[in-house]
Amino acid sequence: MKAVVIVDKKTVELQERPVPELKADEVLLKIERCMLCTWEQRVFLRMQPFPLPYIGGHEFAGTIAALGSGLDPGKYPVGRKATGRVIPFCGECPSCRRGAENMCETQNQENNFGGLAEYIAVPVTQLYMVNDSVPFERLAFAEPLGCVITCFDKLDIKLGDYVVIVGAGMMGMLNLLTAKLQGAYVIVSEPDERKRELAEKLGADAVVNPLETDAAEFVKRETSGQGARAVINCVAFKEIIPQCMDMLGIKGTFLMFGKMFPDGKTEFDLNAIHDREYVVTGTMSASVSAFQRAVNLLERGIVRPDELCLLEKTFDKAQCQEAFEAAVRPDTYRIAIRF
Ligand SMILES: [Zn+2]
Ligand SMILES: [Zn+2]
Repeated sequence: MKAVVIVDKKTVELQERPVPELKADEVLLKIERCMLCTWEQRVFLRMQPFPLPYIGGHEFAGTIAALGSGLDPGKYPVGRKATGRVIPFCGECPSCRRGAENMCETQNQENNFGGLAEYIAVPVTQLYMVNDSVPFERLAFAEPLGCVITCFDKLDIKLGDYVVIVGAGMMGMLNLLTAKLQGAYVIVSEPDERKRELAEKLGADAVVNPLETDAAEFVKRETSGQGARAVINCVAFKEIIPQCMDMLGIKGTFLMFGKMFPDGKTEFDLNAIHDREYVVTGTMSASVSAFQRAVNLLERGIVRPDELCLLEKTFDKAQCQEAFEAAVRPDTYRIAIRF
C-alpha cells in the first residue's frame, strides 16, 4: 500500500509499505480521506522532533475492507463507512481506571498513528461505523470535534452563558460551533481579518481584534461587566494568558485547549484565582464518549464543518508534499489528503 511518510524536515514522500496485518479483533479500514492536524504539521516542521520516518494521520474516514478472524461479518460488513479513534485505551492503566482514557498511558507520543496511508488496522473497540450518507470529508472531523466535545464536557456551559474563544483557527472554529449549539453568547478574539469574518459567518456574536483593541476590556463591555463564564484558549502564544484570565467573570473557567510551544511557562496572579474562584484547566485529546458524540453530530448533519470552509482543500496522495506545505501556512484551515 501507499503511505505518506515524513522523511525529513519539511519533506514528505509517498512510499510503499506493507498492508497492516490484522489481529483477531481488528478491522482493516480502507482510508478515503485523512486530514493534516497540527500534530502532523509540527512533526513535519520538526518542532516536534519525533524519530523519522514518521507516518501520522489520526483524522480519517474510510470503509471496512477486511475483518480479523474473530469478527462477525454480519456485524462489521465490508464496505461500511467508518472512522477510528487512534488513541488507545487499555482499560487497566491508572488513567483509564480514572475514566481518563484520553490520556491512556499505553499511548506512545512518538507513535506513527498510521492514518496517512491506504489502509489502517483498527480494533473494534475503537471503530465507529456510520450510515452511508455522511461524506468522508465530514466524517474525518470526528477526532477534532471529539476533542472539542471533551473540552465542553469539562466546562458545563449553560444556556445564555458568555464564552470567549481565543484564536479562530480550525479548533477555535469548532469550539465556536459547539458553544453556539450549547446556547452561549460567543465572543471570538482573533487578529486575522479573514478569520474574524468567517467566525461571524459561523455564528460568533461578537469579534475583536486583540492587536487593535484591549480584548479583556472588550469582553467586559460585551458582557455588561459580568465577564466570561469560560475562556477557551486555542492559540500557542503564552504572552496572551494574563489577558485571557482578565476576561473571566466570577467562578469563570480558563481552559487550555491547545498546547504551547516550545514550553508553557508563564505567570498569572494566583490571588485572582483565590478571590474570584477561577478554575484553570485543560483538555487532551478526545474521550471515548466524546468521540462517539462527535460521530453522532457529523452523521446526523448537526455539525457540517466540511461545508463551512473549515476544510480548505483536498489533495491527492501523490501531491502530499504540496498538501503539507499548504497545511503549515498560518492562514489555512484543514487540508485533507485523498487516498
Ligand atoms: Zn487532530
Ligand atoms: Zn490505559
